[in-house]
Amino acid sequence: MLIVMKANATDAEIDAVVRVVGELGYRAHPIPGAARTAVAITGNQSPVDSARFENLPGVAETVRVSKPYKLVTLGLHAEKTVVRVGDATIGGDELALIAGPCAVESRDQAFAIAEAVRRSGARFFRGGAFKPRTSPYAFQGLGEDGLKILAEIRDTYGLKIVTEAVDEAGVDLVERYADVIQIGARSMQNFTLLRRAGKSSLPVLLKRGLSATLDEWLLAAEYIMSEGNYQVVLCERGIRTFSQHTRNTLDLAAIPAVRRVSHLPVIVDPSHGTGKNYMVTALARAGVAVGADGLIVEVHNAPARALSDGAQALNLDQYEQLVSEVRAIFEVMAPAVVS
Ligand code: PEP
Ligand code: MN
Repeated sequence: MLIVMKANATDAEIDAVVRVVGELGYRAHPIPGAARTAVAITGNQSPVDSARFENLPGVAETVRVSKPYKLVTLGLHAEKTVVRVGDATIGGDELALIAGPCAVESRDQAFAIAEAVRRSGARFFRGGAFKPRTSPYAFQGLGEDGLKILAEIRDTYGLKIVTEAVDEAGVDLVERYADVIQIGARSMQNFTLLRRAGKSSLPVLLKRGLSATLDEWLLAAEYIMSEGNYQVVLCERGIRTFSQHTRNTLDLAAIPAVRRVSHLPVIVDPSHGTGKNYMVTALARAGVAVGADGLIVEVHNAPARALSDGAQALNLDQYEQLVSEVRAIFEVMAPAVVS
């Protein structure tokens, strides 16, 4: 349920509503809007009795939420969410560019790539320290040593660090060294991990699961938000289909589909979405053209020697070219993407 406060409701009246929600054993999420505050209720397993709220001072109306998700919806939050990472944003006026290797392999490798990422004007650096690999024998990442390299990159270049946590202990470490917690496709329904990320003060980049429907993906975001962390970015990274010409099928229709129901920013990953170097730039262009708030792209200084995902990594020159092309597209279509 959503409790819509009157435009002139006082802070004390909002607090009183929050208190009653708590007394009923539920969780209250006050969401300030441009005109009024709404208080969403989560934690109820059956309908909440609206009579309990209707006569409280400052309450305008109560609204039943029929969708399985609540906090992610536009009904709750008509303005688009802008995720803020220091002075950089995702979902704001700028095209958010997140670039870097699939995995941090060494200090030299990561710095060589970070240099190019910084030069491109991107604000975010990606690189995995904990890699969820299909085979237990494949390179699993440098762990905390990788995070230390990422933290050095942040200090040297001022880039914001986006890196994956695969378990709850990993979130503790990512919080210590990085700026955005990435939840990978394989972890999208790891509900204890989602809840832990929901308790973090860092924004969360939530990748779509390999076979997740839109509702399942949004409900995963809802898990994070239900714990009080509203700084969530959705990432379309391709899904499993019968097609064999790509590693995954990049579902670009997911971008307008998300926009229609949610206020959360949504970005595109053309690297995992195709798995093939020669397709990445084309699908990056398409991602921006379809209205994504940003891109996350894998870049390597020596793709042929990459320890993971080399086949989809752009080299530094290809990456520079991609950035100039997607920026040009963003420029011409930015005003059209408001809805
Ligand atoms: C990654 O970003 O390197 C990654 C493992 O992505 P995904 O979870 O989308 O497969
Ligand atoms: Mn990868």
